[in-house]
Amino acid sequence: MSSVLEQAHPWLEGLVAYDPGKPIEETARELGLDPADIVKLASNENPIGPSPKAVEAMKQAAESVHIYPDGGGYRLRTAVAETFGLARENVVISNGSNEIIELVGHGFLSPGDEVVAAEHAFVVYKLMATLFGATTVEVPDPGFVHDLDAMAAAIGPRTRMVFVANPNNPTGTMVDGAAIDRFMAKVPDHVVVIFDEAYYEFVPDPPDTLRYVREGRNVVVMRTFSKIQGLAGLRIGYGLTTPEIAGVLQKCRQPFNTNSIAQAGAVAGLLDEEHQRRTRELTDEGRAFLERSFAEMGLEHVPSSANFVLVKVGDGDAVFQAMLRRGVIVRAMRGYKLPDWVRISVGTMPQNERCIATLKEVLAGTAAA
Ligand SMILES: *Cc1c(COP(=O)(O)O)cnc(C)c1O
Repeated sequence: MSSVLEQAHPWLEGLVAYDPGKPIEETARELGLDPADIVKLASNENPIGPSPKAVEAMKQAAESVHIYPDGGGYRLRTAVAETFGLARENVVISNGSNEIIELVGHGFLSPGDEVVAAEHAFVVYKLMATLFGATTVEVPDPGFVHDLDAMAAAIGPRTRMVFVANPNNPTGTMVDGAAIDRFMAKVPDHVVVIFDEAYYEFVPDPPDTLRYVREGRNVVVMRTFSKIQGLAGLRIGYGLTTPEIAGVLQKCRQPFNTNSIAQAGAVAGLLDEEHQRRTRELTDEGRAFLERSFAEMGLEHVPSSANFVLVKVGDGDAVFQAMLRRGVIVRAMRGYKLPDWVRISVGTMPQNERCIATLKEVLAGTAAA
């Protein structure tokens, strides 16, 4: 036997692969269903699709894919910088905003280091920490809201970074600007704070975390094109940070980490405010419908600031399976130590209505087996 496997990093043994939302095609294949009859409300995607302007820009960019992308992402970084009143040097573009999590790991984590996150925070933080041999300190989040005072208190000499997901996935909860200010006043200089703002555009009056970037604090604000812009399949996102931290992250990425079609689509999507406004309106209406329906059904749910709702259904795995057989894909939450809950993304109104009708059917046990 080769000893090469023994040379793999020992901490990789504890690493469990990310379990994504079940794809439509896979569900259709396994259940013999028509993909067109399947509703996926499992990955917080945009139910009205990408911006038409982004699609147009991507078609044009497709004509030039024989040329390598602009590794520096000049146009996209400029557009992002201008949109948020920062400089290009503050912007790092990435293969999905998830890559930012990996880049901060490459830049700052060594085996034995600690990462602080909320107990029910987005699970990728912990996966990435494990990848680099670091330990995640999980801080209890009463009522599913990040307890920033407790998170500040959990910072120790080995802490390299703290993740604040705002709004958080899968809970949909937020912390406000006052809590963030109090937190930032306590964070020492040897710690990087990462604000994951994947759902930022869905929030009417989000806290101004870019203020800390402007003040030169050790902060990375993560944003993505996967959610409100409807470009999840492209894999593109960005981090906003100080020029110094951006310099570190730039060294850690591959030369062409984002492709030319994604860069072109992202620029057009960023500027398409009309598409974002429509998505926000549809999301507000759909989320209100879902939350009202859960209340009428007597199901506990966590009031959400994002485009999904966490709802307590009993046996989350069984409900997921029973809904799946009826062509509605939701997300079971056992991986988040929430086996009684499922997370449901806001879809179009017909999709939301079908989802609620299916959930009622399943919970009534008509054919729960
Ligand atoms: C969806 C999501 C992201 C975005 O991931 P991408 O890699 O940009 O697609 C990041 N953080 C959270 C909390 C999310 O829910």
